[in-house]
Amino acid sequence: MIKPLQIFIALSLFASNAALAGSSDFDIRLGRGSEREQAAAKQLRRLLDTHDVSPFTFTYSVVIREGDVPHSHPRLTINTIHLEDDASALSVFIHEQFHWLGAAMEANTNAAIEDLKATYPNVPNYRSGGARDEYSTYVHLLVGLQEYRATASLFGQSEAKRVIARKPHYRWIYRQVLENEAAIAAIVRKHSLDVNPA
Ligand SMILES: [Zn+2]
Repeated sequence: MIKPLQIFIALSLFASNAALAGSSDFDIRLGRGSEREQAAAKQLRRLLDTHDVSPFTFTYSVVIREGDVPHSHPRLTINTIHLEDDASALSVFIHEQFHWLGAAMEANTNAAIEDLKATYPNVPNYRSGGARDEYSTYVHLLVGLQEYRATASLFGQSEAKRVIARKPHYRWIYRQVLENEAAIAAIVRKHSLDVNPA
């Protein structure tokens, strides 16, 4: 359940995201303060200072916790597994950011999902490359597409393809993103869930 205030905050950020964001705009906390968490924070700060993520920023509160599965709420949380892979590290951060957009624009998300059901009346379960349940699988077709396009805008298309193709989870979902990009992107655009990098 999203409270009106949260929607207001998220949409305010959405509306004002033309301003450049840098690492100092973010509140980045560490789970335990381990060496790898410190290294991941340093990496994230460097990436935020060298890549304009403002079009894809919907929350400024970040936690880096070694061993956690990345997730978006209540605080955007990432882990330390991509210390050697900048594009993958930033793509995970952007993925979780897009969940904040989806939550703020829940009605648009649900309308987009209705359209996705026409293209994909049946989606696989988690073991077959989907997400944890059917709704989450449809959500991740949207988030996966948004993540792919944002990563391509920052690192180029071939690097984005590499990042998306090597994801260890949601294999079916990310395959649709790469193989059916135009159709999913049209649904994202139709429901105003697209963001345009400056
Ligand atoms: Zn996700």
